[in-house]
Amino acid sequence: MPGSELFGAEEIKEVMDVLNTGVLFRYNHDEQRKGIWKSKELEEEVKKFTGAKYAHAISSGTAAVSCVMAAAGLGHGDEVIVPPFTYIASIEGVMMAGGLPVFAEIDENLCLSAEGIRKAITPKTKAVMLVHMCGAAADMDAILAVCKEYNLILVEDAGQALGATYKGKHVGLFGVAGGISFDFFKLTTAGEGGLFITNDEQAYKTADSFSDHGHTHIGANRGMEDHPIIGLNFRMGELNAAVGLAQMRKAEYIRSQNKKNKAYLKHRLSEISDITFRPMPDPEGDSATFLNFFLPDTDSAQKVVKQFTEDGIAGANYWFLNNYHFINQWGHLKDLKSAVPLAINVLGAPQDYHNLQLPKSQEVIGRLISFGIRCTWTDEQMKALADKMIIAIKKVL
Ligand SMILES: *Cc1c(COP(=O)(O)O)cnc(C)c1O
Repeated sequence: MPGSELFGAEEIKEVMDVLNTGVLFRYNHDEQRKGIWKSKELEEEVKKFTGAKYAHAISSGTAAVSCVMAAAGLGHGDEVIVPPFTYIASIEGVMMAGGLPVFAEIDENLCLSAEGIRKAITPKTKAVMLVHMCGAAADMDAILAVCKEYNLILVEDAGQALGATYKGKHVGLFGVAGGISFDFFKLTTAGEGGLFITNDEQAYKTADSFSDHGHTHIGANRGMEDHPIIGLNFRMGELNAAVGLAQMRKAEYIRSQNKKNKAYLKHRLSEISDITFRPMPDPEGDSATFLNFFLPDTDSAQKVVKQFTEDGIAGANYWFLNNYHFINQWGHLKDLKSAVPLAINVLGAPQDYHNLQLPKSQEVIGRLISFGIRCTWTDEQMKALADKMIIAIKKVL
């Protein structure tokens, strides 16, 4: 959670700008706000950093997934290929829109693989919700080829991948649109917040209206604006935007520190011949928020996690047993337990969720440990950490 390590005078200054005008709302009130437009400024920073033609700040990464679905015209009854390893928000976004998630295999790159997608395709498949997991891109060339071959709509959840690129292009810009999260645990944070990025003007306009009750945001009289579509409220508030803006200006620095610190830790851990690292199709484009490594099997991975805890080593994520990141613990979803009937309750699930066969994903996530990289580690702290980690892993192996 690198961004949250770096709160300081910059965040305070931006927040005070907003409090001094009293305009906590991102639209209108032109005179009273005295030129203070934090959401708009944040969007400009995001465009600069990601290279996106359009960026729209909203209330959460989950809201961003909903906006991505809306912008791609995906909803009722549409079958969407999704990964079994993601933050559950990606699946919720598909289901809440009325979509029917179809789970496909990931591979050692922790994202849906082109092969996995290909095997899950049926005549009814409409789209792929690609999630760029743990700070780095999926295998884009191969995935784009499959989407093209089968005429599938590509949408992206880059919730935890701000700062990740593939061959120089920022993730979230390969399909119709991409969502990014600014929650407390991401590369940069707004406390709560999300971003919608795209190079497609129409997709941007749809997200802009969808996230604010259909408003077109043209003119000075909000109550008299047109509403071309039905929407909801996923607006970002100016206080969150202020924090996000200060954080966004630190994104480049955070990423470079992450890369340096991750490279050191990886170099040290490579002395252990029995562990392997996440293979990335474009290692240069890694945002380096996690060092992802594999133990020979699920059992030894669980023992290493336990050993880390016993040895006082903090920072290891073991997603295989996490209730929100891996399908094995998503019983509520497999049982279609919704507060209100969704399309999937009416139409039925497109797969037998209780008997899914995803052996590759099981094997990959079972062996995986994702170690959180901190951008504020000192050289001494990193050396001490690497020493302790190596001892702990060797105790198990
Ligand atoms: C964090 C995250 C989200 C959700 O973001 P929130 O801002 O917490 O709503 C969505 N997808 C992925 C992949 C995430 O990691």
